[in-house]
Amino acid sequence: MADACVIGVDLGGTKLLAGTVDAQLRVHHRAYRLARPDAALDTIVEAVVEAREATDRDVVAVGVGMPCLVEPRRGVAMACNHLPLVDVPVRDLLAERLDLPVVVDNDTTAALVAETRWGAARDARDVLMLTIGTGVGGGVLVDGRVLRGTSGAGAELGHVVIDAGGPPCPGNCPGRGCLEAFVSGPALANEGLRRAVEHPDSGLARARAAGREITGPLVTELAHDGDVVAREAVLTLGRHLGVGIASLVNVFNPEVVVVGGGLVAAGELLLEPARAVVAERALVPARDQVRIVAARFGEESGMLGAAALAFDVGGDLEPSG
Ligand SMILES: [Zn+2]
Repeated sequence: MADACVIGVDLGGTKLLAGTVDAQLRVHHRAYRLARPDAALDTIVEAVVEAREATDRDVVAVGVGMPCLVEPRRGVAMACNHLPLVDVPVRDLLAERLDLPVVVDNDTTAALVAETRWGAARDARDVLMLTIGTGVGGGVLVDGRVLRGTSGAGAELGHVVIDAGGPPCPGNCPGRGCLEAFVSGPALANEGLRRAVEHPDSGLARARAAGREITGPLVTELAHDGDVVAREAVLTLGRHLGVGIASLVNVFNPEVVVVGGGLVAAGELLLEPARAVVAERALVPARDQVRIVAARFGEESGMLGAAALAFDVGGDLEPSG
């Protein structure tokens, strides 16, 4: 079994990553796909088959993190904000098609597992995880246990309201002014576009004039390059993030808040203003005890966490990272 691997799959709102991972957490192959909302399971199967064929090692199990309300004991996706998956027995359908043991969980719960076992929150027992991409996923560890709520629908940290009269929340959420409405890849693109129109001499406006589409990654790239207007867009999101985290810190008194997902590519440009707001607004002593950090595994936390869950069902492998 020394050469055995598992495949971790992170299905996001817009893209999918499947990685072949060994017991030392080395990733041997990465398969990327766009997430097709009408064919999510087919896309998972295709990516897993590619990852499996790319290794000569024995693949013993598959772990899947999905942006859905998941009932983990049965592996059923019960509802999903960004994909049309309602009461789908994902675990059993995939196990039959792949002829491998499969474990399914919420994507941010998977990321929380990776960061708590091996990453930015290693050995901490009270942890909040936020994955910020197309939307905002949440995961909560309370005294070492994953908090799920009465039916598994808990820990939706992206839907904490930061402005009661704010804009409608994207996806299937009926709320308004949720954190997800202000802090996400699309929200950063909108913020960047608004500022590019206001500041025609900015790097953002020049990129737009040259025909580039203003996206979250482009705003992040120009912010890292020093464009003041792009930096202000990231800073605005960072302050909104801080307002949300301040409320969460008051509720959970966590030791660590881990921020992952695509938006964490902005790094300190996003986290520094978030920390400043938490320092201004959250209650003592919780605000002084919390660390707000980027995910160690960046955008790959979800994939590695799904691999961790697969190791749990795939036999007696004990990853050491
Ligand atoms: Zn919402």
